[in-house]
Formats: sequence, structure tokens, C-alpha cells
Amino acid sequence: MSNVYGWFVRNCSLPLYQKWHGFELLKQVRALEKSAWLSADELRSIQWGRLQRMIRHAYDHVPYYRALFADSDIVPEEIQSFEDFGKLPLLTKETLQDRLDDLLAVNVPREEHHRGVTSGSSGRPTYYVQDRPGNRTRAAAGRRLLRMAGYDFGLRLFYFWRQAPYTVGSDKGTPAEAPEPTAPPALPVRLKRWAYGRFAVENPVYRVDPTLLTDSEMSEMYRRLKRFRPHLIVSYVNALYRFAQFLEAEGLANTVKPRSVIVSSETLYSHQKELMERVFGCRVFNRYGMQETGIIAVECPDGEGLHTNTEILYLEYVPVLGGGTQIVVTDLINRAMPLLRYETGDTAEPINRSCPCGRGLERIRNLQGRIIELLPTRGGGVVNGQLFATFHWIEGVKQYQVVQEAVDSFVVRIVRGQGYVEDNLRPMLKTIHEWFGDDTRIEIEYPDEIPFTKGGKYKLVISAATAST
Ligand SMILES: [Zn+2]
Repeated sequence: MSNVYGWFVRNCSLPLYQKWHGFELLKQVRALEKSAWLSADELRSIQWGRLQRMIRHAYDHVPYYRALFADSDIVPEEIQSFEDFGKLPLLTKETLQDRLDDLLAVNVPREEHHRGVTSGSSGRPTYYVQDRPGNRTRAAAGRRLLRMAGYDFGLRLFYFWRQAPYTVGSDKGTPAEAPEPTAPPALPVRLKRWAYGRFAVENPVYRVDPTLLTDSEMSEMYRRLKRFRPHLIVSYVNALYRFAQFLEAEGLANTVKPRSVIVSSETLYSHQKELMERVFGCRVFNRYGMQETGIIAVECPDGEGLHTNTEILYLEYVPVLGGGTQIVVTDLINRAMPLLRYETGDTAEPINRSCPCGRGLERIRNLQGRIIELLPTRGGGVVNGQLFATFHWIEGVKQYQVVQEAVDSFVVRIVRGQGYVEDNLRPMLKTIHEWFGDDTRIEIEYPDEIPFTKGGKYKLVISAATAST
């Protein structure tokens, strides 16, 4: 059956509503779908133009960058290429946490601010600010990429997620603890929002919190999923993987058949992808993003890897110890709080060939989510926690987690299965000693289960250590 509601939303209610609201999401999505097919060189020159303007803006109006340029002995005019830009110091999450006010552009009025917060792996909240015009472009650019993975306006989405990441009224997605930027909206604004929610909901959404994953919870979730008949399932990787394992074990594979599945926020391994595609009978697409920048990349349906939001984000790849390159992102549209060379803590590598699909948008592969942490060493370096991702296949290990409590002290948690003997762990322990020193302490624990985080994610590697020399 064709999706009548979707047709109505795309062609009637959403365009009408947006005309009234002065928000041209559909038009922007169309424009971005067009620019996706520009050549890589054309897209590069769009990036360069936007980057130059953002550098100038940051230098002229943002106290943090004014000081940073002065300390680095650089003026904007000297940045004549992407290579020159790479000489600026990296921006860390800690700087966002410590110097939020200095990072705000003094010429962007507070009414234009949209504040958000992200919890991150350290557990300390990071506040960030975006401006509303930029956010509209960001919303359109994200949907443009998601449409490659089967998303469209009007489709029913089932979220296995704590909060809806891209639904109506992004304000709703802001956690309660974020500071209120302004007074509550005036009555006409509230009326408009109500009308939007009532008549032009972009996507009917059903959400289930994945923090608890017992068998009875999963049975209940399956019942809801069947009733809702989603076109799309959107989820964290490991939560949906565990659910797919459950469905297969219960003989329920292929009883829910969405058009596609979109997963994100954690590293997606090929064995997980295969199982989920088998159980749900459709393609599983990987999506990558962070709250501060919105959706960064979505898997291409026709070629290897993920296409990035090239027109609005400039990505660099900075080598890390232990292999791989960290993604460093520069936001080309956020004027309220410019993020120049922002460390993501995620690793990936660029694909430098053109994509079989014909789009000129950049591509990345071997994406290792933030869940894989960068672990500090005694020498002041960092080691890619990806080192520990290869131990999935140790005999008798059902689940494991590596926790770095201090630079020279680790806890390894093992959920034991059939055939486990401690000797099987030898390669993992050897890896720790190799990278962190022979005298590094390792304690082994045997819990019955390794819980998901409050955010519904599963952490393979955790580092509570801070770098020391
Ligand atoms: Zn492609």
C-alpha cells in the first residue's frame, strides 16, 4: 500500500505549514540533493569559500579565537589553503566545557541561540550553542543524507532511542537540564507549534527507551513494533543487535519488515550488520553524527562507506597512536559558536575515489564510534581503543569490557560462556602490557552481565584516566 499520509505530508500540509512559518525545509532539502551531485572539486571550492568566511567571522567576533590566533601568531589573511588552516590548534571538548562564553560570537543575538547539551563519555555535560538559521540548514542537510538510506517525510519511524534525534521542534530534543536561553515563546509561536504537531508532523514516531534489555522488555517491544508497522527503525547499534539476536532465537526473524534500518552512535561491525539484515529483511545503514554538529555522514546505498555533509562540514583526519586517524570537524554554518578543528574522538579514514553512485559528496570508511575511546599513556600519548575491538572471538567470552582506571591500571570485565578459561585472555592482556607498559596492573572481573549505559549504549572500552607525563 502506498503511504497516503506521507504523500499528504510532503505535498500538502508540510509545504503549507512551512510557508506560514517562513521555514523552507523542503526547498532546502531539494537544493542540497542537487548539490550532492556536484563534482568533488566544485564541492571543495564551496567548502573553501565558507571556511574562509567562518575563519574571518571567528577572528572578528569570537573572543576565544581572537586570542587563539594571537597566541599562534597567525592572522586570517595568512590562511590561504586547507593546509594553512591545519596549523591552528585543535579544539577539545574540555575547552567547550570550560570556556563556553568565550566561544560565543558577540554579534549573534541571544534570540538566535539554540542551546543543547551532550553528556559525552566523561560523564561531564558539554553545553553548546547553535544559531537558528544554521540549524535549519543543518536539518535539511541531515534529511538529504537520510533520504539515501530510505528516510522520507511522512514515514512511520520506530526509535529504539532515548530521545528522538531528528523530529519536529528540535527544542523538544533539548534535555531538561540545558539552561533556558530565553523566556517561553509567545502565544502565536506556541499556536504555530501546536498546528505543526497536529497537522504536519513530519514523521509519526514511536519511541522505546533501550536502557533495559531483559527478555520480557524485548517481548513487549516486539509487540509494539508489530502494531506500529514502522517504515524505518532507528537505533543504537548494540541495543538493536541484541534485540535482533533475541528475535532470531525466538524464531521471529522476518516478521517485522521495515524498508530500512538506520543505526548510529556506536561502531557497527560486519557480523552485527549481517545479523540485523537477516532478521529484519532489509538493508542496515550506518549513520554518524554528534549533537554539536548534527548528522555528519550516512552510508551510501550504492558504494562503500558513508557520504558526509560536505557543504556544511569540513573534515580532517589526524593520526592517532595505535593506528587510524581521528576525525576533526569544522562546522561551516554555525555562526553563534564557531567550531574550528573540533576533536570528535572518533576515528575513520577518507575514501579518495569517486563513488559509483555518482554523488560528489566526500566519503569515509572504517568508522569507529566514540564508544571506542582514545586511551592516554604514561608518555602523554593516546592509544586508539580500537585495539580491543578484535577480541570478540575469544573462546568462551560472551561479552567483555575494558576499563582504563588510571594510565597504568586496567579492569577487564568478562561475561563467561562455554569453554572459558583464563588463559584465553592472554592476547588481550599482552596487548595492554605492550601499549601501556609491562608493569601495568590488570584486574579481571566476572560479572553476570555488562550493563548498557544510561544512554542505552554499550561501551566496549572506557577510559577514566587522564593523560599524565
Ligand atoms: Zn555514493
